[in-house]
Order: sequence, then C-alpha cells, then structure tokens
Amino acid sequence: MKTTGKVNGIISNIVIVKADGAVGQNEICYVYAGETKMMAEVIKVIGDDAYVQVFDSTRGLKIGDKVEFEGHMLEATLAPGMLSRNYDGLQNDLEKMDGLFISRGSITEPVDFEAKWEFKPLAKAGDKVSAGAWLGEVKEQWVAHKIMVPFIMTGNYTVKSVVEAGEYKVTDTIAVVADVDGNEYNITMVQKWPVKQAIRCYTEKPRPSRVMETGVRAIDTFNPLAEGGTGFIPGPFGAGKTVLQHAISKQAEADIIIIVACGERANEVVEIFKEFPELVDPHTGHKLMERTIIICNTSNMPVAAREASVYTGMTIGEYYRSMGLKVLVMADSTSRWAQALREMSNRLEELPGQDAFPMDLSAIISSFYARAGLVKLNNGETGSVTFLGTVSPAGGNLKEPVTESTKKAARCFYALSQGRADSKRYPAIDPLDSYSKYLEYPEVEAYLGEKIEKDWVQLVYRGKTLVQRGKEANDQINILGDDGVPVEYHERFWKSELIDFVILQQDAFDDIDANCPMERQQMMYKKVLSICEHDFDFADFEECSKFFKGLINLFRQMNYSEWKSEKFYDYDKQIDAYIANH
Ligand code: ADP
Ligand code: MG
Repeated sequence: MKTTGKVNGIISNIVIVKADGAVGQNEICYVYAGETKMMAEVIKVIGDDAYVQVFDSTRGLKIGDKVEFEGHMLEATLAPGMLSRNYDGLQNDLEKMDGLFISRGSITEPVDFEAKWEFKPLAKAGDKVSAGAWLGEVKEQWVAHKIMVPFIMTGNYTVKSVVEAGEYKVTDTIAVVADVDGNEYNITMVQKWPVKQAIRCYTEKPRPSRVMETGVRAIDTFNPLAEGGTGFIPGPFGAGKTVLQHAISKQAEADIIIIVACGERANEVVEIFKEFPELVDPHTGHKLMERTIIICNTSNMPVAAREASVYTGMTIGEYYRSMGLKVLVMADSTSRWAQALREMSNRLEELPGQDAFPMDLSAIISSFYARAGLVKLNNGETGSVTFLGTVSPAGGNLKEPVTESTKKAARCFYALSQGRADSKRYPAIDPLDSYSKYLEYPEVEAYLGEKIEKDWVQLVYRGKTLVQRGKEANDQINILGDDGVPVEYHERFWKSELIDFVILQQDAFDDIDANCPMERQQMMYKKVLSICEHDFDFADFEECSKFFKGLINLFRQMNYSEWKSEKFYDYDKQIDAYIANH
C-alpha cells in the first residue's frame, strides 16, 4: 500500500502534505490539482507533515487535494535509446512536448519502450556477476551500449541464463540471475537509479593521468583538462562561457557528451537545439548529436526541475561510464543550479549561509564534483566522467559563494576576464589567474612527456613565466611611459603578446582555427617559445613593436591556414625568413 496524503499548506512550489503513513526524505510523490498530475519531491518531514517541492506550477492547487507517495527517490531511467535525445531535468522528452515549454502536468517516456534492439550476449550461464557487470550489448547509434546487472542489486549473483542474440524490447527479460540463496531475478535492458546518489560500481577510482584534448589551445597547452577530471569556467555575462563550452563539446575527445543547459535564457537553449543536430563530429565523421544528450531547463521552468537537471545529467554520465566509455558532462550554468538550491532553502526557512545560499552549499558542490572521475570497473576496463561547469558570478565577482565553493571542488579553473572579452581577446581565459592542478600531477607529467614530448610540462611553465614577466613589464611601461623603461621591457611585453595572440587567442567561429589538434599546438607553441627565449637586441622600442606586430600577423595567418597545407608551410618559411632578416 502506498502512503497517501492531503494538501495542508501551499507556499509557492512548496506544498505541506498531511501524510497517512511513513514518508521518506527525498521520496517522490504526485500531487493532483484536479486532473493534473504533478511530480514532486519530499524535502523535509516533520511528524506527519511532509514538505514537498512540486516540479511544476502549483497554481490552482487547493487545500485537501490528493497526494500519492511513490516510496522511492527521484530516479533516472537508464536504457538504450537515450543518445541524441533532449530531456528536461526530470527526463521528459522535450521533442515529444511543445518544444521548451512543457505543458503543465505532462510526463513522457524517457526512452522508446516499443523499439527493438539487436542484442548480443556477453555473459553465459554460470558466470559470477555483481552490479554493473556486462551481460550483453546492443548497438546504440555506433556505441556498444552494455546491458548491465542493475546498479541497485548489491551482493553476488550467478547467471542462470542469457537470451540468444536477437531483437528485443528494452522491457524484455534478457537474463536471469540468482543470488546466494537461490532467489532468481529477471533482468531487462532498463534500470532505474536515484539521481542524487553516485553510482559506485567500480573497484578503484585512480587519480586522472591522461589529458583530454579539447582543441582549445589555452586549455590543452596551458591548462590541460584531465580525462576523468573536473574544471569550471567562471565569467561575467558575455565573457564567452557558452561559446567555450560549445567549442569543447564539439571537439573534445569523448565518446559521449552530456550537456546540461541549466536555467540559462530560453533563447540560448533553443540555439543549442538548432545548431547541434547539424554538427559533424571531427573524430568520427558522424553527426555530433548521435553521441550527445542534452538536458535543458530554462529560467522559466520551475525551480526544482532546475535543481534536478545537473543530477540527472551526472547520473546518465555515470551510467555510460560503467560501460567503459569516456563521458564528458558539461553544465551551463551551475550558478542557476545554486540559485535553485537557494530558493528552496529560503522557502524552507532554513538558517541562511553567505548571500542566503544554503549553509552546506560547499558540501553540496563538492560532493557533486566528486562524482566525476576515472574509474576501474570490476572487469578491469576503465571509464571516465569528465565534468566541466560554468559559473556566472553576479557582477563578475569571483569572491561570491558559488565561485569560491566550486574553486575548492574543481581541479581546473578557467577564469574568463571581462577585460579580455572587452578587448576581443577570445577565448577570454585569463592566462595568469587560470590554472590546471593536473599539471602538478607526476602521472600527468609522465603522460604528456610520453605523448607530446619529454619535459613538456617544463616548456609550459616557461611560457607561463614569460606571460607573467610580460605583464609586469607592461605595468612598468604604463607607469613610466614608453621611453621611461629600458627597451628590454618592451621586448618582454611583446613576447607575451606573441604568446597571447598566437597561442591563447583562438577564433571559435573560424572553421580551421576553432579546433587545433595537439600536434599542431605543440609545433606552434615550440616555435613561439623559441622566439620568446631569444634575445633580439632592438635599437629602440619602436623597432621592437614593429618587429613583433609583423611577426604576430604572420603567425595569425598561419593559424588560419589548414594544418600541414602548402599555405601553412609557406607561412612557416616566411616566419623563419622574417626572423633571420631582423
Ligand atoms: P556567456 O555565456 O559568458 O554569457 P557567450 O558564450 O554567449 O557568453 O559569448 C558572448 C559573445 O562573445 C559571443 O556571442 C561571441 O560573439 C563572443 N565570443 C565568445 N567567445 C568567442 C571566441 N572564442 N571567438 C570569437 N568570439 C567569441
Ligand atoms: Mg552563456
């Protein structure tokens, strides 16, 4: 028997329900406003009063209206058929609705329960298995989608039978397993998992050691993101957070991309829908959308649905990770998520923390970021979830609680600066404020040493030092005037400009420049670095600036030329000649 209840109080989206039985924290329930059935989550229980958060508008709801408790937490449905879909935070399929504006009370199926999949067994009778073990696979787009022992089945099981290869629906039984007492369980291709809980079907979570290429030079060369790592992009409105995330989602070396568009403006989200289906994945030549799942909530959706979306995205990411895949989860913007947390906490009249955010904001953010990671699965394979979130601090203030809390949780920090955006230095990643902790990992250093070249990390630090010295020189020039400083100061400044214009700046809207492969980054960076580490002996600052302006121009042309094309090598020669002529 399910617990039921009656509405006894309404404060915007929070509804107080008198329950007639036991109600659990975070349990899901349905609130009936007449014929309209709305999903809600229990967020506080005191005696037989359950405070529930309705994922929809509560307009028209009355005291005494019926509530049914489900006995389980907010769950994601995990099954083949999720790729290329557009969901809302509660996994409603947006294509099946009126676009972004979901009509009230509508609930759709997250996957097609009628579709048939070509199943291939991977396990056989007698195999010992546990949660997450691969029983078989189906081809979802071009991904080998593993059918696993459901994550909630803790303990050890023996496979009794697995169906033969053939076509099955997701709800068909594809295997039977028995526990140690001989109780048998039918397994289908669909399972459920409470989104706020991490899926932990792995033996180990080693530190990330490999770098995930993004094709963005300011990231890959200067502040690399690790596969299974975490990063965040704070930046004021208009600094280029969305453009940067889109570039990464198009180009990153990942098998599956999950984009959580969390409470940004609706028109921006519509753009993702329009643009994404057309894009071709540079790694596979397939449509990018074939390996992408978009979860989107716009600011006009109810606050609780916004809060759920990042968890749903992460859960789906962990599900694909358990198949041994590289997953990239991106959320834009996590500030909207934090604001959703704040609204709820305020409505519950909890004691507020800084800026009225919940007291445990830091803990919530940290435990969320901790779900990302590289894992060693029980069968020895590895999988990863790399997480990248944006933060949009009000007024660009990096000291506000969401940015500060995220800084503690994420290992890469890509600070977008208003100044750089204003002077059109895109991507506006600040070279001095930004960092990647992965550069300090000996395993990452060894990986880059092997993959790119020996002592690569040392080369990167040398470049960073040059940028720092350039900035200091520029400060001096600004104070003392062009003639007030030795010409070496100008040389230092211009060398940092060379690094900035050639390596750090990149045009996200140019077909060639947008995506820079690592081999090309290595070549360009070494060429620039060798120039920067040479002493030129300019007669005066005018000669110096003229020389570097010409050089930057040639390098920019080279950046816009196709990699290894005739034009590319031609610019390469022109640059060498230009320097030799000096
Ligand atoms: P945010 O999400 O931080 O509010 P957007 O990502 O929407 O900002 O970027 C705002 C504008 O800045 C874009 O419309 C674009 O014109 C410009 N822009 C951002 N990044 C780049 C880039 N890498 N190359 C060229 N233009 C860019
Ligand atoms: Mg944006």
